[in-house]
Amino acid sequence: MSELATLSRKTDFPGLLTSEGAPWYYLDTAATAQKPQAVIDAMSRALGRDYATVHRGVYGRSAHMTLAYEAARRRVAQFIGAGSENEIVFVRGATEAINLVASSWGMTRLTAGDRIVLSTLEHHSNIVPWQMVAERTGAVIDVCPLTEDHRIDLGALEAMLTPRTKLVSLAHVSNVLGSVLDARTAADLAHSVGAKILLDGCQAAPRMTLDMAALDCDFYAFSGHKLYGPTGIGVLWAREDILDAMPPYQGGGAMIEKVSFEGTTYAPPPQRFEAGTPMITEAIALHAAIDYVDAIGPDALFAHEAALAAQLREELRRTNAVTLFGPEESAGIVSFALEGVHPHDLGTILDEENVAIRAGHHCAQPLMEHLGVPATARASFGLYSDENDIAALMRGIERTRRIFG
Ligand code: PMP
Repeated sequence: MSELATLSRKTDFPGLLTSEGAPWYYLDTAATAQKPQAVIDAMSRALGRDYATVHRGVYGRSAHMTLAYEAARRRVAQFIGAGSENEIVFVRGATEAINLVASSWGMTRLTAGDRIVLSTLEHHSNIVPWQMVAERTGAVIDVCPLTEDHRIDLGALEAMLTPRTKLVSLAHVSNVLGSVLDARTAADLAHSVGAKILLDGCQAAPRMTLDMAALDCDFYAFSGHKLYGPTGIGVLWAREDILDAMPPYQGGGAMIEKVSFEGTTYAPPPQRFEAGTPMITEAIALHAAIDYVDAIGPDALFAHEAALAAQLREELRRTNAVTLFGPEESAGIVSFALEGVHPHDLGTILDEENVAIRAGHHCAQPLMEHLGVPATARASFGLYSDENDIAALMRGIERTRRIFG
């Protein structure tokens, strides 16, 4: 068995079989990861015999749920090297995390003429919230270009920063190209002009060791469902002093200190940003997902997926019929175009072979425009991926080429 195959743990993932029990070659992990049985079991226990609300009940089961919910917060803090669990805000996903920062921090800190730097390769969820803030505050968005091999151009970033730059918000790993940002350098550049930096860690959290202290960023956002946990839970990490100074994002129960019609005072972070009954079972299942990923080790996971991506790029290149996008060295995400075949047609034919890839703009329309294509085909790997997935994809591509002559 090859070294690559030994990391693959398909049997832990019931979602990797078709309903007939055949192998399903799932190459869309960048969209959402399949769940290990341990996560499904944790979710099911939390929804079943352990189920109760948190933070309110005087009865034992609610107290137990509160402990489990707060243990999940501590586990996230430890997993990403946060300074304290108070820096972990549970949100619905990366989209909500970025919207929270845009609405709470952006709307109160930005004024007309301030500048927000994004990049060409951002996901729509790291573009649109800032456009909404810009519209309402008069702040201006600058777009950092990409290098020839489709990485965020840090030289260009340095050149475009000004004392008016208040925020730099960049993807740590591109969901389309797998390009990995030198995040520490980007953070140092942002800080050199007194700007804050937000990293969209949606694709980094499931495949890289994260250490908030080493990254020295100000905000970090990711989604649980891409990290082998359930949908409906994500994380906003922010430095405690920054969170402390931010006004609430939503009002309601659980985020207050005292409510009266004369005036309401707010709870300290993270509760200040968690209005309403939180995602209790989702947080507990995310805890199980992090345990699962940590047992493998994010470094091993990154190496595994990067090796698969390199192998796939090589095999695609050998067809002489494929345009490859993105840098040669990337996290486990490969975008490509097959000559004469629309990505949607390719995706449809592959589906007949039980191969699932993504075809489309991947919520990154400005990047598609930059690449000069309406869409790409994207294969993305997970910790369960192996050479069999690549072989199935290549068989499907050969069949597609025969169909299209
Ligand atoms: N940023 C990136 C880089 C992503 O890949 C995604 C999900 N495709 C998001 C943000 C948004 O994540 P979610 O839809 O889980 O909120």
